[in-house]
Amino acid sequence: MDLAIILSAASMTLVVALRYLAASGAFAWLTGRRKPGYHGALGPQIRREIGWSLLSAAIYGIPAGLVYWAWQERGATLLYTNWRAYPLWYLPLAPILYLLIHDTWFYWTHRLMHRPSWFRRMHAVHHASRPPTAWAAMSFHPWEAITGAIVIPLLVFVVPIHVAILGLVLLLMTIMGVTNHMGWEMFPRRLVHSALGGWVITASHHQRHHEKYRCNYGLYFRHWDRLCGTDEGLSEAI
Ligand SMILES: [Zn+2]
Ligand SMILES: [Zn+2]
Repeated sequence: MDLAIILSAASMTLVVALRYLAASGAFAWLTGRRKPGYHGALGPQIRREIGWSLLSAAIYGIPAGLVYWAWQERGATLLYTNWRAYPLWYLPLAPILYLLIHDTWFYWTHRLMHRPSWFRRMHAVHHASRPPTAWAAMSFHPWEAITGAIVIPLLVFVVPIHVAILGLVLLLMTIMGVTNHMGWEMFPRRLVHSALGGWVITASHHQRHHEKYRCNYGLYFRHWDRLCGTDEGLSEAI
């Protein structure tokens, strides 16, 4: 195999692992500040969450590395750096498409993984965090990690996106993944219970998924849950 591919995958693994440690570390620290002792008794669970998450980082790093290589060495992706390569109106449309497609993929694969036989094999690791903490953001069994790791690397071959906008999508994905697991709501109650909160997922929504399991499967948005009758509202515990 081309050495450049291996180096690229290794570098991306490092980037994903550092991104996880920085984001989860920051919000775990904030949790400790805002709610002293809140997750104090969860030491062994947190160590498991970090272990699974670092393994997931390696799984996420491989397709990310392949994309980086394909982009830099082959020019084979639809990533672009020239703001004028596509009409300006397309600039905000691309991240919306990425988030909607990613959310759709996540909703349906997540629902499948809650079928009992799939659950045991792929998804029980993620739900072993009871309650989840900020460190559980990437706490997945390798099979589940693969389903999550391929979406955006595939999209960059199909849906054009400016590389800086892709960076914003990845930032949003990282922050939502961490904050939706940290066990407290960082947005004002008024916003979470507003019309916007009825469509966008925050910690209160995903916390209920971890409490009740067979509801609230979405990632960013609530429309699939609402359309399919799987939305059971917000957690009252946080
Ligand atoms: Zn979760
Ligand atoms: Zn689940």
